[in-house]
Order: sequence, then structure tokens, then C-alpha cells
Amino acid sequence: MSTTWHILGAGSLGTLWATRLARAGLPVRLIVRDTARLQAYQAAGGLTLVEQGQAQCYPVPAETLANDAPIERLLVACKAYDAEAAVAQLAHRLAPAAELILLQNGLGSQDAVAARVPQARCIFASSTEGAFRDGDWRVVFAGHGYTWLGDSSHPVAPIWLDDLEAAGIPHAWSVDILTRLWRKLALNCAINPLTVLHDCRNGGLQQHQCEVATLCSELALLLEHCGQPAAAQDLQQEVERVILATAANYSSMYQDVANQRRTEISYLLGHACEVAARHQLVLPHLNQLQQRLMAHLRTRGLPSD
Ligand code: NAP
Repeated sequence: MSTTWHILGAGSLGTLWATRLARAGLPVRLIVRDTARLQAYQAAGGLTLVEQGQAQCYPVPAETLANDAPIERLLVACKAYDAEAAVAQLAHRLAPAAELILLQNGLGSQDAVAARVPQARCIFASSTEGAFRDGDWRVVFAGHGYTWLGDSSHPVAPIWLDDLEAAGIPHAWSVDILTRLWRKLALNCAINPLTVLHDCRNGGLQQHQCEVATLCSELALLLEHCGQPAAAQDLQQEVERVILATAANYSSMYQDVANQRRTEISYLLGHACEVAARHQLVLPHLNQLQQRLMAHLRTRGLPSD
């Protein structure tokens, strides 16, 4: 009998994983906040995944955080700013050899979660898959991609990667997951805040090449100082390539702000500035970008953390 996949967070990525695992016949249980959310979920009859315009409902069983059955495998699919508090509420339910898979973007939340549950193995993930909610308990699979998983303190891949294979979740075990997460964070810092401040699509940053280049050189310096030289390599070229390849897209941070949603700034630009300060590294443009973005979020009535 396979180990049950507990999914914490029935949002975009949580639903994308839960539905594909369930479709492959694997045991999955969804964990929602409280009884009101559980009742709403039960009334909906399951999670709906929309792929290529086709909607399919999967009646994945669900429970609340207050359930007390033990958890051996937990996929944490909350936003970075919710992950630590959500996991803390479940810490007492984790079995002695429990494994957590952390899907959060950016850096900082993973270490905060790991510190809360020192008895568990925490596996970090970095995903290029894209999904969004177009209704409660309903998610559109918008962009095919790849998920890298890794554990910097224990390089051996877990056996359950077979479940991902069976579920058709494209993935690879990565021995340098921190380098991948830092690289993605640096790309995000060089692009996303500027799209918000200049109110443009990614391609609009072609009009701000100098500003982008200055940020890239500061970010590369930071990566070298914090033991991630591989993540610094050809950063500016990759940023320019991403700006061109995604010219018509609005960045995730742009979309969050446009939809009056809280951003994950503290785990992206905020984390970069915090690590720079810890290394006594002076990065004036990056710091100024953070101050400008925080001021912008405040004027929009959004949290600046
Ligand atoms: P999302 O759609 O906002 O989903 C987050 C879910 O977590 C929500 O359903 C929320 O519940 C739930 N949640 C928060 N606190 C909880 C708690 N205490 N107990 C139970 N559930 C709780 O977020 P997402 O887009 O899936 O993003 C998750 C992470 O993946 C982020 O770090 C994001 O940057 C990263 N990521 C996302 C994508 C993507 O395409 N979406 C791609 C790559 C990476 P409510 O519904 O009740 O608020």
C-alpha cells in the first residue's frame, strides 16, 4: 500500500498535484483550513482540473487541520508567507520519519518550515509549471513545465519519485537545488519588481536595459558572496533572454499587485536584501528597488512584506 500524499493548500499548485496523483490511483488527502472550508469543498464535490479546455472533477478526500491522524508525507502548497504557520499547526501529526515537500517560490520560507519540524526530512522544490484558480476548488493548468526536487543535506533521492512518474508530473532529482532556487530568485528580482514599478509586461523592460543590467551585476555579486557562484554565471544574458522569450507576459508579481493580492516580496527581493546585509555587502540599487517596491505596495493598500 502506497503512502498517502497529504496536500496542504488547495490552491493552484496543490490542486495541480492532488488531481494528477489521484488520477494515477495514488492515495491523496487534502488538508483545508477549517470546517467551513471543508463544508464548502464537500458541497463542490471535489477538485476540478481544467486541461486544454476540458474540466475534470476528482473527488479527493479532505480533512481539516484539526484532524489528528498521523502524516507521513506532506506536500506544502501554501504561499511562502503562509507555509511556516500552516505547518506549525500540523507539526504534532508528523510521523517520526515524515517527509515534507516544499513548493514555495523564493527562499527563506523553507528554512523557517524546516526549523519548525526538525524531526522531518524537508525536500525543497522549484517548479516551472503554471496554474491558476478560475473558481473555488477549480484550477486551470496553464503552462507545462518541470519540477526539480532536492535535499541539500541528504543527496539520496526518495523512493516516491516513482509516484510522480506514475502521475505524469515531470520532475528531476537535483543535487544542487539551492543553486536552482537562488538562480530563480535572482531572475525574479531582476524582472518582477521592475514590471510592477514601470507598469509593463516583461517585454517592456527592453526600454530599461541599463536598470536591468545594474541589478544583474549586484545580484551576481550577491550570489558569489553567498556561496552560489554557479547561480551567478551569465545571469544578465539569461535575464535578457527571459525578457524576450516572455515579452508578452505579465510577471507573477505584476498579476498579484493588479489583482490586489499579497506578493511574496519578503521571500524574493526581501530575502536577497536581507542576505546581502548579513554579508555586509552594499548593493545600493537592489536596496533602492526594495524601498521603491515597498512604497508602491503601501500606496496600493497591499502588505509590504
Ligand atoms: P494559491 O493558489 O494562493 O494557493 C495557496 C493555498 O494555500 C490556498 O488554497 C490557501 O487556502 C492555502 N492555505 C494557506 N494557509 C493555509 C492553512 N493554514 N491551512 C490550509 N490551507 C492554507 O498559491 P499557488 O499559486 O498554488 O502558490 C503556492 C506556492 O507555489 C507559492 O510559493 C508560489 O510562488 C509557488 N508557485 C506557484 C506557481 C503557479 O503557477 N501557481 C508556479 C510555481 C511556483 P485559501 O484558499 O483558503 O486561501
